[in-house]
Order: sequence, then C-alpha cells, then structure tokens
Amino acid sequence: MRIEMPRSLLTTALCVSAGCLLAAAVKSDAISARAKKLHFSSIVVDTHDDTTQRFLDGKFDIGGRHSDGSIDVPRMREGGLDAIFFSIWIPSKITGQEAVNRALTQIDAVREQVRTHPKDLALCTTAAEVGTAYKQGKIAALMGVEGGHMINSDLDVLRKFASLGVRYMTLTHSGNDEWADSSTGKPTHNGLTDFGKDVIREMNRLGVIVDISHVSDKTFYDALEISKAPMIASHSSCRAICDVPRNMTDQMMKDLAANGGVVQINYHVGFLSQEFRNAEKANPEINKAIAEEVQRRCGDNEACQLLEGDRLTREYVEQGKLPRVGWTKIIEHIDHAVKVSGVDHVGLGSDFDGANMPYGMEDATKLPKISDALLKSGYSEGDVKKILGENTLRVMAEVERVSRELSRQPQK
Ligand SMILES: [Zn+2]
Repeated sequence: MRIEMPRSLLTTALCVSAGCLLAAAVKSDAISARAKKLHFSSIVVDTHDDTTQRFLDGKFDIGGRHSDGSIDVPRMREGGLDAIFFSIWIPSKITGQEAVNRALTQIDAVREQVRTHPKDLALCTTAAEVGTAYKQGKIAALMGVEGGHMINSDLDVLRKFASLGVRYMTLTHSGNDEWADSSTGKPTHNGLTDFGKDVIREMNRLGVIVDISHVSDKTFYDALEISKAPMIASHSSCRAICDVPRNMTDQMMKDLAANGGVVQINYHVGFLSQEFRNAEKANPEINKAIAEEVQRRCGDNEACQLLEGDRLTREYVEQGKLPRVGWTKIIEHIDHAVKVSGVDHVGLGSDFDGANMPYGMEDATKLPKISDALLKSGYSEGDVKKILGENTLRVMAEVERVSRELSRQPQK
C-alpha cells in the first residue's frame, strides 16, 4: 500500500526504477501531429478484448457510444483501432457440453454484432481480409477462444469453432483444462498431455493461432516444440518488470520470437506494476472485498462483474488503498519486450473490458498516446507500425501459410 504522491515525486520514482529518459519522453499526454498522422495511417490491431460479455444480454449495441467500458464503434474510430479480437470466454470451472454451448452462443453474439453493423464492422479470418476491411473503412472483427476447456476434449469442436471464424485459441484460462496446465493452476499434466499435443497439430492444420497467454511455462515450451507455426501471447506482459506467473520471462519472449511469434502487451494494472501487485498481495482482504461486492452487484452476470471489478478497484486507488498505475507503464513493457525479443515480436493485447486499466488508458480513444510515446522514445515510424499491428498480421499470414502447407499433406 502507498499514499498518493505529487506528480513530480512520482516522476522521480519512475526515473529511479525505469530510466529517466523513457519517463521524460512519455510524461506529456499531448499527442504530436506526426504521431496522429502515423497512428491513423497504420493498421492498429488489438488481440484481446472481453467486450463479448457485454453482447450477451442482448441490450448492448456496439454501434453506440457508451459511458462505461472501453470498446464501441465510435470510440474505436476515435482511437484508430482497426482490428479487434473479441474474446470467447467462460470461466475454467465450466466444462463439458455446457462449455461448448456457451462458447457457441458467444461466437454467435459476435457474429450478430457484425451482422447488424455492416457499414462499421467486417468479420475477418485472414490477414488479407483485415487489410481489405481497413481499405473499406471498416473495423475488422476477429475472434479468439480463451481457454481450451471450451472444446470439451473434442477436435470436432475445435474444427467447428474454426469454421465459424475463430482464429486463435488460448490453450488454458486461469485453471488447468483436461489437456494443458495453466500458469495459475496446480500442475497436473506436466505441460501438455498427448491429446494436448494433438490439439496443437490440429490448430496448425486449421490455421488457428496457438495462444500461450495464461499457460504454465512448461505448457508454453511443450507447445513451442510441437507447433509448426508461430505462436502468440495474445495478452501477456513482462515478468522482469512485474513478477506474476501470467507474464512472460525474458527467455520465453526470446524463444517465442525465435519461432516468429509475438507477445501482445496486456494493459491490466496487476500485470504492469510490481507496486500494484505487491499491494494486492500484502492486502488480500481488498481483493476479497472487491469480489464480494462484485458478486453482490452482479450475481453471475460476467459483463457486469468485469466492469464493476474495474470500477471498484479504482475506488480503492482513489482512497489511497491501492497504488495508482499510469498508462506509461504500458510503454515500459513494450520497450522491455522489444529490447529482449526484437521489434518484430511485440504487439498490443489490451484486455479492455476484462481487466483493470491504468490511468490514462481507460478506453480505445486513448490508443494514439501509445504511438506518440513510442515516437518520443525514439522508435522509427516503421517500428511503431510493426508494434501497432503489422507484427500480428505477419503472424496471421504465416499461420495461414503453414495451414495451407499442412492441408496439402496426407494425414499421418
Ligand atoms: Zn485472459
């Protein structure tokens, strides 16, 4: 826990921990004309958004501007967000046929938002389709399944998801599934089971990107060994800066990069800031109190839980009971990941509408600040474009190429 400091002191503290140059470069929120021009002429891709949960009650219209949450069409347009992976997510504890059914309901909910906003959204399944949507002035809507438990240990279900447009699958969520260990579960499979390895092979063949966010380090290395296509960490940050099992070690980022993959940096304050993480650990009663209040306000409504969790966390920050984390922490993680794994291997995976956002990155309208900060930190325009989206599109195209190649080969 720490009390609020004046901004000048905060900057000094950041200088000690992260280097004065970066802090000085990104402390201003004003966006240069050059950054705006660059940002709005780049394809900006976000690989992880939980907005899907809001679609489920049938009342949320992505076409209108909302005062809560982080994502809707007007705010994506204002922030220059061109391609978004809507997460298909249910908690790990829901398994079996119910998990499959609920995933299918969410896939349909995403497709329905696209159907009802044909001028603004285009359902995309390839890198080329994202490029076409961009040229037509539409936002590319893509889908990723967050948690292998939703296939119910059945490759037919995986194929069905792929045929409906799902283009990545996170191997686990926060609990182990039947065939892979999670970073936040007690290991039971020592990584991937034999069936888990078959899942990776089938994902390669179908052109579904292997996503290793949430998985245990051993699962990551098992998947890396099996996958013939580059993988992604759709929403993970750097463990060297914030030591949580959900983040990636420097070595993991290097090894992901060596295979052509990309880590998309997560904006969740508990993954960005060691100070926040320490405060959470030192005061477990705060998270418990938040969870209880969320349950009281929302019951089992996941969309409500995600938004209220964020709101309540901010109330604790305002009361000085949790540290205030600023958006420049995202830049620190991007910069670290680039130094470790190279500028071709880093992207953006916000976790908007599913996590606690830092101050100054409350919604999609704030995204141009990232381009501005990277330019001010000395990144070239070409490198900024790579981080904003080109790296992710390259992985998609490569996964598609591997899929075509494997599809031509007879099955063993
Ligand atoms: Zn997640």
